[in-house]
Amino acid sequence: MYAEKLTNFDRLCIHTVTTKPWSIEEIIKNYPQAGVKAVSVWRDLLENREVAKIGEKIRDAGMEIVSLVRGGFFAGTTETEIQASFDDNRRAIDEANRIGAPMLVLVCGAVPGQSIQQSLSQIHTGLETLLPYAEKSDVKLAIEPLHPMYADSRSAICTMKTANEFAERFNSPYIGVVVDVFHLWWDPDLAAECKRCGENGNLFAFHICDWKLDMEDMLNDRGLMGEGIIRVREIRSWVESAGFNGFHEVEIFSRRLWEGDQKELLEHIKQAYLEYA
Ligand code: ZN
Repeated sequence: MYAEKLTNFDRLCIHTVTTKPWSIEEIIKNYPQAGVKAVSVWRDLLENREVAKIGEKIRDAGMEIVSLVRGGFFAGTTETEIQASFDDNRRAIDEANRIGAPMLVLVCGAVPGQSIQQSLSQIHTGLETLLPYAEKSDVKLAIEPLHPMYADSRSAICTMKTANEFAERFNSPYIGVVVDVFHLWWDPDLAAECKRCGENGNLFAFHICDWKLDMEDMLNDRGLMGEGIIRVREIRSWVESAGFNGFHEVEIFSRRLWEGDQKELLEHIKQAYLEYA
């Protein structure tokens, strides 16, 4: 079952990292000019900046802020390291609050050589510790399961099933899940887990890009929708039939695309979005 083809950009959101060469000012100017009405902001662009003012400028330009990216990294080898991660996550929640983002995306962390169970237990403690602060700040926490190729150092949460189990254990409107097609397309249980996630009110966000068959770099060689093998529209049909009606967030890390003209890239994204998302 496939979803209807998209015919406009009303639900298109772009992650700032997708146009990495641009400053936040260039993004605030160029996204709306291209008809982009929503943005997810990566924290590196906010370092030493007046975050609330940037939030205002984004809204004044006619854009909605979908999420702040990213917090997490709850796994660690020492108590100091783990405490530092709590502090950083509180700062991230404060930034989300100041910029006016309703949600913070979490890459939950892993430690090379440490057991997955140990990392998962530290992630549980991290979420438990942060949740009251997130609730008080009215910022939702969105767990993003990553592809298992990142289970060494970035995320012990690699499947929707694990992410769903976390969200269900906390059973809070402030903890949910991000479905990113790049990380999850391979999972034979994805359709069923999307349904479960939506039914429990935990499906917070939907990220899109493509998995290139000739990928040269595990991190920075993602494709535009249509350049690879992911059946993006089919996965969209699963999340939408599970009740998701939020933005389709284009999140592409690509050295190849960062080297080109970023205004042209926006046009290519729009074409690929209508054609393949
Ligand atoms: Zn993502």
